[in-house]
Amino acid sequence: MAECIFCKIVAKELPARIIHEDKTSVAFHDVNPQAPVHVLVIPRKHFASAAEAAETDEPVIGHLHRIAAQLAQERNLTGYRTVVNTGAEAGQSVFHLHLHLLGGRPMRWPPG
Ligand code: 5GP
Ligand code: ZN
Repeated sequence: MAECIFCKIVAKELPARIIHEDKTSVAFHDVNPQAPVHVLVIPRKHFASAAEAAETDEPVIGHLHRIAAQLAQERNLTGYRTVVNTGAEAGQSVFHLHLHLLGGRPMRWPPG
């Protein structure tokens, strides 16, 4: 999508601190980190949110989780949180599906 900032990061039209890339996903450091480790794992394919994903997209969603786990392991995170905000009411501000990987500090529950 032309005006989507995460599509622009995928296309390398906007800079990002990319730490992983494969044919399905790209992962990069969040520009406004909420934890010592705060990485976003996104599909190359544009989905506005998790609510837009179809049954055929299930492998893509699973892939994002597997990459997050791999990146967490590489960073020696024994506990971490993965978050997908879906919709503005839930705090979604960028409408290209992304998995937050947060770690490196204790996490509270329930989240705010
Ligand atoms: P959301 O609020 O949609 O769940 O998460 C969007 C995340 O994207 C936020 O944590 C925000 O800091 C991050 N973000 C927004 N714009 C950019 C950007 O241009 N580059 C990077 N690396 N992160 C961004
Ligand atoms: Zn996009």
